[in-house]
Amino acid sequence: METVLITGGLGYIGSHISFCLIKKGYKVVVLDSLLNSFESSFVNLKSLVDSEGLNSNETLFFAKGDVRDKKFLDTIFSTHAKSNKAISSVIHLAGLKSIKKSINNPIEYWDINVLGTLSLLSVMSHYKCYNLIYSSSATVYKPKGFNMFKENDDLKPNNPYGKTKLAVEEILKDLSHTKSGNNWKIANLRYFNPVGAHHSGIIGENPKGESTNLFPAILNVIKKKEKQLFIFGNDWPTKDGTCIRDFIHVMDLAEAHISALDYLLSNKAQNISLNIGTGLGTTILEVIEKFSEINQTQIPLKFVSKRIGDEAFVVADNSLALKLLNWYPKRNLENMCKDCINFLY
Ligand code: NAD
Repeated sequence: METVLITGGLGYIGSHISFCLIKKGYKVVVLDSLLNSFESSFVNLKSLVDSEGLNSNETLFFAKGDVRDKKFLDTIFSTHAKSNKAISSVIHLAGLKSIKKSINNPIEYWDINVLGTLSLLSVMSHYKCYNLIYSSSATVYKPKGFNMFKENDDLKPNNPYGKTKLAVEEILKDLSHTKSGNNWKIANLRYFNPVGAHHSGIIGENPKGESTNLFPAILNVIKKKEKQLFIFGNDWPTKDGTCIRDFIHVMDLAEAHISALDYLLSNKAQNISLNIGTGLGTTILEVIEKFSEINQTQIPLKFVSKRIGDEAFVVADNSLALKLLNWYPKRNLENMCKDCINFLY
């Protein structure tokens, strides 16, 4: 079976994708600097793989290092080529993802997210590895009120994080127009709001730094690490005054990568962007209500002012992904909240 390199593969989304790849029969090489993950995530991933009888010693490999380091990348590619396990595809997730931190530290964001990708692309080219799935984001879109985002909508991110994501999409587009362009098979997957965990509770979201996302913030209150949950704005023009987002179970998101890889490998060279969301909008208060119901606890709330750059409604039109990928999201809000709590306890 083919070998896939997954950068940032010990992070939240990467660990779930790695598991799904192995389940599908791929060999997986995880590259991660552990900037926002722990070595224990590798141990947990291995035990999940082994628990499914998939022999992690033969299917899962870990290389600790930085995606910006070309020598390191070169060693990974050459070692696997020599041992008859040449890397044929890459799923690129290594990077930084906080909108708030990107506003305070744009240099670090451009450095890791964009220069990291450039190093990866140049080593991939050298080894003639031309299949790439890139982790893009809904933040690349220009806000458009209460309409769902379609892939051909205007792109105009309003923060440095989103700008780095769009810059990489642009670089990848340029690549498709070069001489070797008729080799590159590229999918930019624009994620909406990934949440939840593998149902076993063995892997899940375990960041090193503080997370600004809703689900980890709710879990911090449930764990009593925080006294209350801050909600940014209560007068948005929505049914309960809180923002609407498109939450997608991380396992559905991970499975979309497997389908996207199948799609790329069985089609001609191309550069395609796809929204990966459920197409369903849920308010922040609806999520909190579901957590309270499942965990049978009240979650203390504090409404604070809106954050700069937030939007009332961010929901995917996922019809293109449904049509092309032979994939659809299978898990609902209850699964998302239950699986998160499973990971917690
Ligand atoms: P994460 O922080 O859990 O995972 C990223 C991983 O990359 C971490 O394990 C980190 O240690 C590693 N990493 C960071 N810089 C690195 C470097 N220079 N070299 C090697 N490894 C490095 O984040 P995630 O939620 O799993 O997100 C993965 C990708 O998906 C990111 O590119 C992110 O921008 C994108 N994305 C995430 C979301 C989301 O809500 N989680 C939404 C849209 C897009």
